[in-house]
Amino acid sequence: MAQARLMDGTSLARRIVEDTAKRAADLTDRTGTAPCLATVLVGEDPASVTYVRMKQNRCRKAGIESRHVTLPAATTTEELVATLRALSDDPGVHGILLQHPMGEHIDERAAFEAIAPGKDVDGVTFASFATMSFGLPGFVSCTPGGIMRLLDEYGVDPSGKRAVVVGRSAILGKPAGMLLLARDATVTYCHSRTRDLSSVIGEADIVVAAVGRPRLIRGEDLKPGAVVVDAGYNPGNVGDVDFDSAVQRAGLITPVPGGVGPMTIATLLEQTVDAAAAAARGSGV
Ligand code: NAP
Repeated sequence: MAQARLMDGTSLARRIVEDTAKRAADLTDRTGTAPCLATVLVGEDPASVTYVRMKQNRCRKAGIESRHVTLPAATTTEELVATLRALSDDPGVHGILLQHPMGEHIDERAAFEAIAPGKDVDGVTFASFATMSFGLPGFVSCTPGGIMRLLDEYGVDPSGKRAVVVGRSAILGKPAGMLLLARDATVTYCHSRTRDLSSVIGEADIVVAAVGRPRLIRGEDLKPGAVVVDAGYNPGNVGDVDFDSAVQRAGLITPVPGGVGPMTIATLLEQTVDAAAAAARGSGV
């Protein structure tokens, strides 16, 4: 069988960011307000510091202002909630990104819920999950939203297809499944207690890998011609799918890196400009 076609997230993300930069510039010209993303980081975990810096750099390139708040690792939930509420009330801030995971002493859910739904451009609040699940206007979780854009770009219509999502985290697996369901896929979730993962995957027309286990899914698990989206990002730039064997069997596949990863940031920037535009409309500018 021929090798799978690659779903190139890098080039699609670049086009989305270019378009977002034009929209940001146009909004700034028309309203005098540049879209602004506030990033909040608790502690100094090196990976989180890198992610936040990367998001700020991308913002700058897209003409989106970024405001950064770093809090000490010992910050309490109450202090973090107060910071997020202040940013939620600040009219100069249009989107809020709370970098996670945070320290175990922090009630992550309480922190997320302190983000105003209209500024939840990372799609982490209950409100965003609900609107996303009901197919109503609102912000989507960035990685799942980026995955759906990639599928659209490559002409994959989920309607009527068997989709298997491996992983059920609140930010990735669960919302990815909800978005596929909203597009009429027949969705199965797999997780650490799933029995015979390989045979469930073997029935899938679309596989979304969102596990965090290097090369867990192998070519021989796949239905020939399946669409394989690998959201996994493990040390050494390795995905959750064994690319070398999967590319021989899949019809379409995302590379790691260069597949899902760039789409996440593109979606974040796009939603920040959406939030700023909505705020500008709301204030009648
Ligand atoms: P997570 O919160 O650790 O969730 C992992 C999920 O995988 C859980 O639902 C877990 O099941 C399931 N799982 C673990 N071992 C399994 C196994 N052997 N078989 C089947 N399911 C298994 O991770 P996450 O935050 O969703 O992230 C998942 C991966 O995506 C990571 O590699 C992460 O780096 C990557 N990621 C990438 C992006 C991006 O922008 N590209 C964004 C976010 C995350 P249980 O629920 O039963 O524990």
